[in-house]
Amino acid sequence: MPEARIGKAVHKVLELVLMGTPLDEALTTVRAELPTDSEQRRFDHLGTAIPSFVARVGQFRRRRRVARQLVEYSLAVREDLSVTQFYSGDAYYRGVLDLGYLFEDDALALLDHKTGVRLPGSSIVDQLEGYGVLAAAAFRHVKTFWFGIHWIAERAVEWSAPVKPSVVLDRLVPDLLDNIEAAALAVSDGPRPNPGPYCDRCSYRDRCPASKELRYEPVEYYEDDE
Ligand code: SF4
Repeated sequence: MPEARIGKAVHKVLELVLMGTPLDEALTTVRAELPTDSEQRRFDHLGTAIPSFVARVGQFRRRRRVARQLVEYSLAVREDLSVTQFYSGDAYYRGVLDLGYLFEDDALALLDHKTGVRLPGSSIVDQLEGYGVLAAAAFRHVKTFWFGIHWIAERAVEWSAPVKPSVVLDRLVPDLLDNIEAAALAVSDGPRPNPGPYCDRCSYRDRCPASKELRYEPVEYYEDDE
């Protein structure tokens, strides 16, 4: 899938650069792995947005007291939300954080890079709910979470309002467990629609009856008696 390959390639460049590889070297190395000219051209276009993001991260790190940077950081939890190894057999839920900054004042900023089209209006916290649950389990001393989305093509970063650990526990954990259960049921019984905020991003939304029902008010026509 070209989209997935280009997305992975851009993530790879961001990872390399944030870990200290010079930008030109990272772009050249990763670009060479893309199989077609058209994918390389689209990669080049997205790649033009990377220097401004890296500069922005540099400024941000100089302003804030960063205790630790997390790049492509793998996390996994068991069913009871205790932390386990990413590849361990008892891992119930796994994820890889694109980028995180732990600050000295016990705040954690999590950022997800997205190469797709930005659709305003959906909740950032909902989009990053799984990462929030994993991070809250792994970094139990954190008192405030910030969730952000880096829209690469638009050179924009959107942040949520600060989120307390109690919100992660009381809202994000139950939502995530519900979603995992729905996914497991879909595997055992066959796929089923799960309409929600994600419908706005789904390629099937124009043909999915459940999504249409959720997104459009039925219109009723009445005969004009006069
Ligand atoms: S549009 Fe349909 S298939 Fe797509 S996310 Fe919504 S419910 Fe699921």
